[in-house]
Amino acid sequence: MTANTGSNAGWKSRTVAVHGGARRSQYGEMAEAIFLTQGFAYPDAATAERRFVKSGPDEFIYARYGNPTVAAFEDRIAALEGTEDAFATASGMAAVSGALTALLRAGDRVVASRALFGSCLYVLEEVLGRFGVSVDFVDGTDAGQWQAALATPAKVVFLESVSNPTLEVIDLPLVCDLAHKAGALVVVDNAFATPVFSRAAEAGADLIVYSATKHIDGQGRCLGGVICGPRELIRGKIEPYMKHTGGALSPFNAWVMLNGLTTLELRVKAQAASAQALAEALEGHPAIATVLFPGLASHPQHGVAKATMGGPGTVLAFDLKGGKEAAFAFMDALAVVLISNNLGDARTIATHPATTTHQRLPDDQKALLGITPGLIRLSVGLEATEDLLADVMGALSRL
Ligand SMILES: *Cc1c(COP(=O)(O)O)cnc(C)c1O
Repeated sequence: MTANTGSNAGWKSRTVAVHGGARRSQYGEMAEAIFLTQGFAYPDAATAERRFVKSGPDEFIYARYGNPTVAAFEDRIAALEGTEDAFATASGMAAVSGALTALLRAGDRVVASRALFGSCLYVLEEVLGRFGVSVDFVDGTDAGQWQAALATPAKVVFLESVSNPTLEVIDLPLVCDLAHKAGALVVVDNAFATPVFSRAAEAGADLIVYSATKHIDGQGRCLGGVICGPRELIRGKIEPYMKHTGGALSPFNAWVMLNGLTTLELRVKAQAASAQALAEALEGHPAIATVLFPGLASHPQHGVAKATMGGPGTVLAFDLKGGKEAAFAFMDALAVVLISNNLGDARTIATHPATTTHQRLPDDQKALLGITPGLIRLSVGLEATEDLLADVMGALSRL
């Protein structure tokens, strides 16, 4: 079997997306093979012994530790992200919780931004505390709060570079600088930024985590996740933890994700262009109080987004003046856009965070995070921009 990692060939991202990490067996198959196997036979007993002591880069033992199809996905995403290595996981949450628990021990301190995906918040608030890790939350858009919190040493800084669902953009180079001075490693949940618009490695993030379920699959089929970073951290800290705790990505899902990467840039750029068109059309509509999209000049962190990301993302949010009643009426009037809670899908999705993804939060916390009863999150897909505009503007006009 020959491997082609593409990570140091000087290729452009679209070439890496097609060829990076590819491995071909003796048959020279064009499409990547799905190695749907949990184990590997050794040519002799001495080879088995040697592999358990130390396996080489393309030597496998057991699919919970690694698998050729999973390795191809890891190599391709690492090359795209601009990191030395990556470890693939069963879901985005396996990646988030794995990255955090692999790095932390009792007595450690975490500083995190407050505006987080519900399950990330659960891990930080409910899980880490049980094992003696303290977590201090800050307003991620407030440099002063980061500065104050990181005046005291910390082990890990955790944040979503673009927050869910209110699309706050964090000044990643600034936070990485402050975190490193405080002795902390920076773990970034980069799902909303996408690998296409991410500049997290350049900004100094130590571990970059993706829910591959979102844009990497991009067609709403499989769960998956990945942790990208320097080889020393990925193989030294993440792999030992993940391989013994069981959050491995299945070879079939790795194959879906690997092929998702091939078209990722084309899809995300088309989705972002439609999101920009929708955000511009929605801004100033009489039924809407505010439109949140990093690509709008009115966005509070528009400048930060331009300076730290390669594009605005594919998700926007807006607050309907009529509250929950208007939000539900709007969603029920949509014909092309589906009501669901995934994002990054080829299908455009409307979500009402207050009653679904963020339902668990108490009302005061919802208010603090800007999750109002009228807030709608729109994950923009690959339909014709004109059809999306007609559907969304039509539904608004019927309120
Ligand atoms: C969806 C999501 C996750 C969790 O990913 P799963 O693949 O569903 O486990 C984590 N963080 C963010 C920001 C997400 O949007």
